[in-house]
Amino acid sequence: MANLRDNLTRRDFLHGACAAGAAALAGGAAAGPATAADAAAGGLTPTRVLGKTGLKIPILGVGGEFDTVRNQVLLKQAHQLGVRFWDTAQEYVDSEKGYGEFFAKNPALRKDVVLSTKTLKRDPEGMTRELHASLAALKTDHVDLYFVHRLQNPNELGDWGDQWKQWAEKTKKAGKIRFFGVSFHDNVMENMLAVSQFAWMDVAMFLCNFRVLGLSKFRKGMAAIKAAKLGTIAIKVQALGLSGRPLTDKETADMAGLTDKGYSEWQARLKLLWEEADVHSACCLMKNLPQLNENAAAAVDKTKLTSADRAAWGRYARATCEGYCAGCERICSSAVGGQVPVRDILRMLTYHNAYGERERARRLFAALGADVHDRLRRMDYTAAERSCPQGVAIAARMHEAASVLA
Ligand code: SF4
Repeated sequence: MANLRDNLTRRDFLHGACAAGAAALAGGAAAGPATAADAAAGGLTPTRVLGKTGLKIPILGVGGEFDTVRNQVLLKQAHQLGVRFWDTAQEYVDSEKGYGEFFAKNPALRKDVVLSTKTLKRDPEGMTRELHASLAALKTDHVDLYFVHRLQNPNELGDWGDQWKQWAEKTKKAGKIRFFGVSFHDNVMENMLAVSQFAWMDVAMFLCNFRVLGLSKFRKGMAAIKAAKLGTIAIKVQALGLSGRPLTDKETADMAGLTDKGYSEWQARLKLLWEEADVHSACCLMKNLPQLNENAAAAVDKTKLTSADRAAWGRYARATCEGYCAGCERICSSAVGGQVPVRDILRMLTYHNAYGERERARRLFAALGADVHDRLRRMDYTAAERSCPQGVAIAARMHEAASVLA
């Protein structure tokens, strides 16, 4: 039997969810809402307190890696639904510009939005330069959250932490940022533990989804972050993967508990995350109105998941873990002596296979250069496969990448 994802597009799930929801309601069962009208009727997207910042942040945020310049209607709808945490980054091409155009047209709405952007720079001068460029593009005098983006490993904190602290204090005093933090989606569990040692920081943004929530190392990281009272923002929340093996009929039936109750698969993935009180917001890429409406509807729904629901999705995560790279880059990187950027190549495969962003995936792969392409084909991945906690078939994936991304 084909994978649920292979059989049903996101849109199909939305329609399927409507039908199933109606059927469940007719039978008197609790069912999740699935439309924008339902979401609006349920009120604005709920908020949580973002750790020690005290800031109230919507539990659903807009991930800014889409064409915000042309898609102003999505921003308008997000505001109307109370999805008023908007994230972007300097590296997301014109994303900041699109937000800026929205605020220029709707200046009164800026105060409603928790606005966040990020920099890839590490040195204070570079950070200042990029922040000024971001503020100009966003057409605002300050951002609420500012992140050093894509922290690779704890060494970066050791190297730069003191300088970032001074920079954050100075920039807060100047009124240009309200809160400061770091974002990461590689070496997540190590980085969580490391960031929690920098208690002067306000907030951390990191890969967090139903596939990692159950891992004991991840729980340890979450406990450390909570103890440091940092605000927590989840990214990569829907855990798109490499398109692994198809589910068996039994596995499909097993994990369908939530979809049978009227939730789409995508709503279910968010609900699983929001069950975690220590996750303050989920920042989610939503490229069109159906996706936004679907997620906002799940956010206002108050139905609690059962332990059986959670257990079924835990089994689903385990059954399909081979198809998901959890970003523990240092493990496979050291197993191949740093010769092949396995994690980066798996990310490109995910862009290609799951996001449908084929050109972007090919462009990134081409940028690795001929030497890496050559090594990638000749490398022995036996040790890397043995050490991979997800059981990813690394050799097969590397050869798949060489074939589809070249
Ligand atoms: S391939 Fe395995 S070891 Fe490497 S980053 Fe992905 S999950 Fe971790």
